[in-house]
Amino acid sequence: MYLFQFFHEIDITRVMEGTPWTFNIALVILERLKEGENPRGVPLNSMEIWVQVYNLRAGFMSDRVLKACGDFIGQFMASCSKNYTGVWREYLRVRVRFNIDKHLKRKMKILYSKTDFFWFDFKYERLPSFCFICGILGHSEKFCHRLFDSPEEEIAKPYGLFMRAPDRRPNK
Ligand SMILES: [Zn+2]
Repeated sequence: MYLFQFFHEIDITRVMEGTPWTFNIALVILERLKEGENPRGVPLNSMEIWVQVYNLRAGFMSDRVLKACGDFIGQFMASCSKNYTGVWREYLRVRVRFNIDKHLKRKMKILYSKTDFFWFDFKYERLPSFCFICGILGHSEKFCHRLFDSPEEEIAKPYGLFMRAPDRRPNK
């Protein structure tokens, strides 16, 4: 556990809005302390991340839909202010807080009548390493607990690099 001190609000805002951060490709969980708060009492089991929502259709591009997506993945935090600029976008961005003990969500089923449905696909921006077997951050397939149950060649890998969004920003 590390405690960082910032000397200007601009710096801490940039860090908190830039999550997730990594060290040696491992996720670094950050929480902002309130004044006088004891860091040992702060749970470090969730993080915020930008998620790109693909496969949108006309009539489904709204903040109401994005809030449903965010709350499906974890907890909706914000919708990107640039989501509705321009004529058409391939995806919309939603800021989500989610519990890192839970698996990442790949897609969400959208029912638009009693029998008809389609899927939204999710891609995560700056996603740190995660397990393609169980979809949980922090370990790779070689260290997945499911290997204790069955041999690796019999285990499905429903998760993969397709969940990682193409980088939008230059690497710094
Ligand atoms: Zn795993």
